[in-house]
Amino acid sequence: MLSGRALALATLLLLEGCAATSRLAGSHGRPSSGWLARGERLPDRGRGWQVLRTDAQGGHHWGTPRIVSMVRQVARAVGTTNPAVPLVVGDISDVRGGQIPRHASHRAGRDVDLLFFTRDALTDAPVITPEFVRYDRDGASVRWPVALRFDTARNWSVVESLVRAEAVGITRVFVAAWIRTLLLTHARAQSRPLWIIERAEALLHQPGDSAPHDDHFHVRVVCTPDERGAGCFDGGPAWTWLDKDWEKGESASADDDAVLALLMR
Ligand SMILES: [Zn+2]
Repeated sequence: MLSGRALALATLLLLEGCAATSRLAGSHGRPSSGWLARGERLPDRGRGWQVLRTDAQGGHHWGTPRIVSMVRQVARAVGTTNPAVPLVVGDISDVRGGQIPRHASHRAGRDVDLLFFTRDALTDAPVITPEFVRYDRDGASVRWPVALRFDTARNWSVVESLVRAEAVGITRVFVAAWIRTLLLTHARAQSRPLWIIERAEALLHQPGDSAPHDDHFHVRVVCTPDERGAGCFDGGPAWTWLDKDWEKGESASADDDAVLALLMR
């Protein structure tokens, strides 16, 4: 039996422990060397998305709650145009982060691969992308057994949804320079809002230290101010609009329908 004093001490230690654990939750360190605490798992499929590889097939779908909800938001927004052809999601991170096969980053729960939407080049019918398919500067598939065509309109809608997901804090959308050109040319031709195009110009970026990314979007989000205080390290550009977006995000929390309305506007 614990004495009153011992019981008080045990309670205090328990509370301290909880506080320490909650301080640690989220993304830690750099995308290329960090780890993840108390992440959330993206299910294998949901409204408007499916994963490329299940856990049994070697997929990794653990991320911060923020990046997981971003995938859901984008999939819902983009999915309305053709629910039969969902967004295909590649890896996020392992349950506790750290190194995973196929990636130099994806270690801190803040990176996710979104595969490109595609069409059958002969029939022009939208098809579910079977894998990471590479595309050339004309949007034609490269070295793929069936001729596929980059679905520029739908892939642009992914970019637009990412830009509109302001509370998420996206720092980069890595993509090859020629894919970036296809997307921005389409956006300008469609007279999309100037602020969306300008942010897309800033976010879409061909990485200098890895493959050019002509077969998927690699989306990276920044550390939240809380995560930063606990050792999360951004490394990438700190866009001027992010601070304002955090404030908006704090006051407007996670009202799913409001977020969806924002994405669909
Ligand atoms: Zn990636």
